[in-house]
Amino acid sequence: MSHIAFIGLGHMGGPMAANLLKAGYTLKVFDLVPSAVEAAVALGASAAPNAVHAVTGADVVISMLPASQHVESLYLGEGRLIHAINPGALVLECSTIAPATARLVHTAAKARGIAMLDAPVSGGTAGAAAGTLTFILGGEAGHLERARPFLEKMGKNLFHAGDAGAGQVAKICNNMLLAIHMIGTAEALNLGVANGLDPKVLSDIMRVSSGGNWSLEKYNPWPGVMDGVPASRGYEGGFGADLMLKDLGLAMEAAQASKAATLLGGVARNLYALHSARGHGKLDFSSIQNLVAGEKLS
Ligand code: NAD
Repeated sequence: MSHIAFIGLGHMGGPMAANLLKAGYTLKVFDLVPSAVEAAVALGASAAPNAVHAVTGADVVISMLPASQHVESLYLGEGRLIHAINPGALVLECSTIAPATARLVHTAAKARGIAMLDAPVSGGTAGAAAGTLTFILGGEAGHLERARPFLEKMGKNLFHAGDAGAGQVAKICNNMLLAIHMIGTAEALNLGVANGLDPKVLSDIMRVSSGGNWSLEKYNPWPGVMDGVPASRGYEGGFGADLMLKDLGLAMEAAQASKAATLLGGVARNLYALHSARGHGKLDFSSIQNLVAGEKLS
């Protein structure tokens, strides 16, 4: 049975690691937050005192960190984790980061004979807990079959988007669209409520009409319309607004580099920047409903 090093046990990494443990894999885990490590240890993981210790002797290294700077500093920074990973090991880098950063890590990995895939995910914290994530993979197609047994314990859809960094490009496009339809959904619900409609009734109508979309159906942003989503628990947990702002920044960088027009993406980025500047960046991204409504809903 493979030995897996898992680094980054936050909202997503925690439940992903839990699913690998449930499948019987041996995990050595590391996170900067001790309580996140303790939660994984309670499920059977062993705790590493640092990232280098976690990857030493591992066949597979999985990382799930917030942003590009964390990934670059982990693998290529001072400790140069890449030098502590066994040649021949497989690295699955699951964070959503700049394609250019993913390519830097790919190049360093390849130079050491390490197989790597950028493997950002879609499906949110519910998908991470249920083991139904979508993995969007970038890198050599030949590495895919090797990664499949591990990825299938954490997700149900695997897509090969293309070469190194391509998984990140696809993920950034997806999240720009997600931000746009979340804001559009919040605006439509607010308009309906402002004109006397019940947000649940309006949601039921739009769900089966041409306005239907993932934000409305699976992640409704109006408090109390849907059980089990962040909007119904004070926008706690889920996918942080600051992480969405980060992803929209990555989309804007990609748009700039390619001269692609992203008009609605630009508006979405600015709305999330405003929301974050007002101190709400740690809330789930569906809390943009409060900004659209002009008040705090609960
Ligand atoms: P999070 O902030 O909850 O978790 C990140 C974890 O990484 C934290 O526990 C943090 O302590 C740890 N960490 C940071 N630097 C570290 C280091 N050097 N060594 C060890 N641990 C370190 O974030 P999250 O919501 O789990 O998201 C992780 C990634 O997944 C992000 O790139 C995000 O954009 C992406 N993502 C999130 C969701 C979601 O719904 N939350 C969905 C899809 C993709």
